[in-house]
Amino acid sequence: MRAAIVRAFNAPLEVTDVPTPEPGPEQVLVRIEASGLCHTDIHAWRGDWPVKPSPPFIPGHEGVGIVEAIGASVTRVAVGQRVALPWLATACGTCDHCVGGWETLCESQQNTGYSVDGGYAEYAVADARYVGLVPKGIDPVDAAPLTCAGVTTYKAVKVAGTRSSDLVAVFGVGGLGHLAVQYAAIAGGTVVAVDLFDDKLEQAKTLGATYTVNAREQDVAAEIQGLGGADQAIVTAVSPRAFEQAFASLRRGGTLSMVGLPADNDMTLPIFETVLQGITVRGSIVGTRKDLAEVFELHRLGRTRVVREVRRLDSVNEDFAAVEAGEVTARLVFTF
Ligand code: NAD
Ligand code: ZN
Ligand code: ZN
Repeated sequence: MRAAIVRAFNAPLEVTDVPTPEPGPEQVLVRIEASGLCHTDIHAWRGDWPVKPSPPFIPGHEGVGIVEAIGASVTRVAVGQRVALPWLATACGTCDHCVGGWETLCESQQNTGYSVDGGYAEYAVADARYVGLVPKGIDPVDAAPLTCAGVTTYKAVKVAGTRSSDLVAVFGVGGLGHLAVQYAAIAGGTVVAVDLFDDKLEQAKTLGATYTVNAREQDVAAEIQGLGGADQAIVTAVSPRAFEQAFASLRRGGTLSMVGLPADNDMTLPIFETVLQGITVRGSIVGTRKDLAEVFELHRLGRTRVVREVRRLDSVNEDFAAVEAGEVTARLVFTF
């Protein structure tokens, strides 16, 4: 099968033929139809984070495709079904987090395209208990970005607690952020989109943002405070500076919802202001299988729009560079 492989951190990915994997007893073999490019794949390739993958590995945690074979113990999915392979490849199923409906916090989890091979390939194997079930009627090229960008921002809005009278600031309106804008609007929030690029801000307006702020040209905190301050700020931008600006944009009692994972791991959080203004700071990591099912259902009902462009795996190195440079206004999706 064709696959894109990270041989070493920061070295160009190699697109080559490798053996097709075989499913274990609890696994399915999936013929990948579409596979989204998440900024996390770039962090994985660069070895940006404190916990690193071990090259060689196949990136990608937005793979969507058709089940071609199932292991002996698999009952949840059948051959021919369309499934999604999310970041949470597998978890223990028995710890407090798993039984509490927070399998995304399991300490024994494996992660697709990071600790186990992912979706930048014609085939992938996956734990049948953790794949997303893609409803009929959803284009696989739409389902792919929903599998991470969608579920992650849906969950971030959910845990931030957005309600109908809230002002929600979304920092970074790229792959994740363009969906965050929509989920915040669906929750009833009035959305202010923040980015460095005017084309992304214009697009955010067409997706439901009422206000936009260009962080390169405007004083972000002053602009958002001028609107009354944000009840929630959801930060998908890949820069600690954006997290600090988001904090400064909050209204008293507001919530900073951290989603982006910049290589530079530290931000300044002022203690006095956090205490006196009753600010909540919380992290949000992807979403559960239940969240992903809800994301697919919203899309099936026509309530979300995935802005994406199709690429071939051969251009993966140029595509990584373009996303890092902020040159693409859509989620890039590889098809096979
Ligand atoms: P992306 O490159 O598509 O989007 C990032 C956006 O942020 C771009 O539009 C960029 O122009 C904008 N941006 C960069 N610096 C900014 C700044 N200072 N102010 C405002 N906007 C700025 O990336 P993506 O795929 O949406 O991923 C975003 C981040 O989220 C990555 O760090 C990724 O690893 C992380 N992520 C986290 C989770 C999670 O579960 N928490 C899940 C998926 C991705
Ligand atoms: Zn992702
Ligand atoms: Zn567990």
